[in-house]
Amino acid sequence: MVDLRSQYDAIKEDINRGIQNVLDTATYVKGGKVKEFQQHLEEYLGVKHVIPVGNGTDALQISLMALGLKPGDEVITPTFTFAATAEVVALLGLTPVLVDVEPDYFSISIQALENAITPKTKAIVPVHLYGQNANMDEIMAIAHKHHLYVVEDACQSIGAKYTFNDGSVGRSGCMGHIGCTSFFPSKNLGCYGDGGALFTNDDDLAAKIRAIANHGMSVRYHHDIIGVNSRLDSIQAAVLDVKLQHLDQYIQNRKNAAQFYDEALKNHPNIILPARNPKSEHTYHQYTIRLVGVNRDLVQARLAEKNIPAMIYYPIPLHLQKAYQDVRYRKGDFPVAEQLAQTVLSLPMHTELTEEQLHYITDNLLQILDSVK
Ligand SMILES: *Cc1c(COP(=O)(O)O)cnc(C)c1O
Repeated sequence: MVDLRSQYDAIKEDINRGIQNVLDTATYVKGGKVKEFQQHLEEYLGVKHVIPVGNGTDALQISLMALGLKPGDEVITPTFTFAATAEVVALLGLTPVLVDVEPDYFSISIQALENAITPKTKAIVPVHLYGQNANMDEIMAIAHKHHLYVVEDACQSIGAKYTFNDGSVGRSGCMGHIGCTSFFPSKNLGCYGDGGALFTNDDDLAAKIRAIANHGMSVRYHHDIIGVNSRLDSIQAAVLDVKLQHLDQYIQNRKNAAQFYDEALKNHPNIILPARNPKSEHTYHQYTIRLVGVNRDLVQARLAEKNIPAMIYYPIPLHLQKAYQDVRYRKGDFPVAEQLAQTVLSLPMHTELTEEQLHYITDNLLQILDSVK
């Protein structure tokens, strides 16, 4: 699905130099390199504060802690996402309220979101799934109307631009009160281990987030609030600082691969191509088609026989997962998410895909679709 080795080979000298510098200065944690990367990412995103942490899940957890939510407060998230989004809500004793997604862009359904709001609702966590922003105009309007916080799960969508109705342009993760991202190796900006970050334009929230990520300390050994230990290390920051310089090119490479897929797979009766939200850039963390009128799992197995990895993100929506079973939800409650879980298939997508590989993937997929009919 990803080819991190070829990507490394292309920038090997810069990466090795960056890591060597960290080794030479022996500042592995809280080194100047972390601060440098943080500033470069703030400039790139045009956001006031980037707070690097240990991973994307920590970022989500810390964001909810920083908002001062209390047990029993309700947090609305889509049911069709990676579990981390709802996991942190439940871990903090908050109540995850799951809602369906919309069929075209796979992001939180605006109608379902509005219907789910109660007097206990405190925050919305939209997920910019597969690298395309959710409908932020509508989400921010609903949040404003009901005095809710918006925490963007931008773990898959770093850099993706969004054009608001008034013409202004936002960046994924920098449009709500707090945004969270992940630097897991396979993410669009990935390090060589674990990493993550929070984004905010709010000075008070930034100070609180920094303290929470550092055991609740603003001044050393003065613990004003209960926090956690979550930090990006200097070696990962050195890797990310090099890769950030290539992020726009990486996104372009993904777009080129997506365009190839679009052309090769268009007008096929069994394939629904990924719909593009006209207001959002799509940064293609995943290129996800839907297969209809054919056994999706069989197609996936046949692709595997040809050494073509294709993945199902995600096979089970959260409301049908054992850990998230809840009297409030049963099968059939979120028909769009349940349908997507049965039909989606993500094709190989990364920055180093060659035309030859893309031909091989699409030719085989089309042949397989013919043969399993
Ligand atoms: C990857 C991901 C996360 C978690 O990030 P980690 O760095 O693996 O903790 C959370 N939400 C979404 C949507 C993700 O894709």
